[in-house]
Amino acid sequence: SKKRGRHRYSQYRPQMGHILRLRQELEQALAHAVSGEELELHYQPRITMATGELAGYEALVRWRRNGGLISPDDFISIAEEGGLIVAIGEWVIFEACRAAAEELGGAAISINISPRQFQDPGLVSAIDTALKESGLPHSRLEIEITESVLIEDDERAQQVITALRGMGVRVALDDFGTGYSSLSYLNRFTFDTIKIDRSFVQSDDEKTWNIVQSIMQMSRSLGTSVVAEGVETLEQLERLAAEGCDEAQGFLISPPGSAQEMRDYAKKSVPA
Ligand code: C2E
Ligand code: CA
Ligand code: CA
Ligand code: CA
Repeated sequence: SKKRGRHRYSQYRPQMGHILRLRQELEQALAHAVSGEELELHYQPRITMATGELAGYEALVRWRRNGGLISPDDFISIAEEGGLIVAIGEWVIFEACRAAAEELGGAAISINISPRQFQDPGLVSAIDTALKESGLPHSRLEIEITESVLIEDDERAQQVITALRGMGVRVALDDFGTGYSSLSYLNRFTFDTIKIDRSFVQSDDEKTWNIVQSIMQMSRSLGTSVVAEGVETLEQLERLAAEGCDEAQGFLISPPGSAQEMRDYAKKSVPA
């Protein structure tokens, strides 16, 4: 009822002020994190299904705060709302290219680009500058975008994707299958890679695997490479290999780790 609504309003209002203050504090701390070197990248390897060889790494950002590591799921949305994502994203672009060239032996690297960052008019030139400064070949960089990026502004998204691919940078559609119109996006945009979301990969449902099968068939006809995300068991890996999946990423292969950990991983994983 109305009365109850009013009551709830007066009860929650002081708390809202408190939440707002907390958000502002967090935003300030995050702004400081960008300038104060509190951000760091972890890397997770992808392997080529057919050979088991290392195919590249995905860069995943972390915030080192008061001795602990904060996961991107807990701060990217705040950065996105406050606009800080552009500064954070730029740091990620430069650091990922530098690390790939200097610390990871020139390996291919993928970075995540959020919707607001994708709208930034300086994105393409930042990527170009990062590649030139690091000396990483353009074909060694892949950007990962989700459907939410494409929903924002279709035409602009098309332009940015075309510009990046024109430069030789690869573009991947991330979290494939979790949105509403994954298929229509495959039709409207050109991707070098699609990353099948782990909710499919980890499913026990036969129907879901039928969908995975059609994704593989479709991507073969489009000439798009398929990466399976969130591979945690040998059973999942075998199934994906049988379906013709190109690459796999997940805890089974390796959790994300530091550049040093990835160098150790790469040494071990070289086929005998
Ligand atoms: P994502 O792009 O889908 O990244 C994959 C996430 O799944 C990572 O979480 C990774 O650690 C986790 N993961 C990998 N293998 C497995 C597995 O076998 N099982 C399970 N359960 N999880 C696995 P993380 O690092 O916490 O990142 C979460 C999300 O934050 C990412 O999802 C991405 O959307 C976003 N993110 C990460 N780094 C960046 C960044 O530099 N910029 C932006 N804009 N977003 C980022
Ligand atoms: Ca990703
Ligand atoms: Ca993903
Ligand atoms: Ca995700």
